[in-house]
Amino acid sequence: MKAAVLKGIRDLVIEEVLEPTSLAPGMVRVEVKAVGICGSDVHYYQEGAIGSFVLESPMILGHEVGGIVVATGEGVSIPVGAVVALEPGIPCQHCRHCKSGEYNLCPDVSFFATPPVDGAMTRYVDHPAEYTFLADGLTPDEASLAEPMSVGVYGVRKANIHLGDSVAIMGAGPVGLLTALAAESEGGRVQLFDVVKERVEFARRLGFEARLFGETGTEYDVVMDCSGNKNALEFAVGHVRRGGKLVLIGMGTKEGMQLSGLDLCLRGISVEGIFRYANTFPAAIELIRRHREKLAEFTKVHISLDELPDYLSTGRYKESLKTIVDI
Ligand SMILES: [Zn+2]
Ligand SMILES: [Zn+2]
Repeated sequence: MKAAVLKGIRDLVIEEVLEPTSLAPGMVRVEVKAVGICGSDVHYYQEGAIGSFVLESPMILGHEVGGIVVATGEGVSIPVGAVVALEPGIPCQHCRHCKSGEYNLCPDVSFFATPPVDGAMTRYVDHPAEYTFLADGLTPDEASLAEPMSVGVYGVRKANIHLGDSVAIMGAGPVGLLTALAAESEGGRVQLFDVVKERVEFARRLGFEARLFGETGTEYDVVMDCSGNKNALEFAVGHVRRGGKLVLIGMGTKEGMQLSGLDLCLRGISVEGIFRYANTFPAAIELIRRHREKLAEFTKVHISLDELPDYLSTGRYKESLKTIVDI
């Protein structure tokens, strides 16, 4: 079977890899249909690393996965033929983080397309049933959105948004928009901000209230940064109300993400740092189901696996909000 194998910086090859053979108990064999291209795939392609995760041997890309179950191991109740979304991180299940339910913080997690673990841009993937979620009524394309949607769902849970809370979201890229959708579903009154005019207009077309960054905002109960950008973060801190909440989702540079502890202290602001997500897939799938029309914009650009190397090297992925690789 073919796979998108990253061999080094800007060296992505579509090549044959071995098909899986026997299926272990508790595992599901999924025929991968759709994998969304994520910023992290692009980072590994361009830089060969994200922070302390460094590509040291060839690795298959892709972690936003929708597919169809083709076989199940012993003890699995998910039916063959079901459309599923795969949660890409498999935690150790034994450490204190796993036991407390915050398994996104597990130091021994094995996560698709995070070195040295292979991702899912290939035909078949064997995955634990526990981290495989039924996406009844959704297409595999839509199911692949459950992963980025999970980031928004988790951020919104940590933000503890209440009905009527004002929420500013910095960054109107895919994660910002999905976070906005999750925040609205909790009853938040959401305003999105972005520096790019087209993104603001696009967010408005989707029905969100959106502003060009720099237009003055008021104070918000919750500000969620999905950009990791220095200016956005400064704005975010400056526009959380006293006693409000600042939620950090986007990851930028060390220098760009400095905060003043004294200011936070004096204004009684609490800060939530968000790393991935835990226990979010059923909620993410339900949100996708409810907002299918809006989300159609996220699944309309498709390329084939063979087109991927060229698509990344020419930077064409930048032209669309989200690109789905058809496997
Ligand atoms: Zn992603
Ligand atoms: Zn663990």
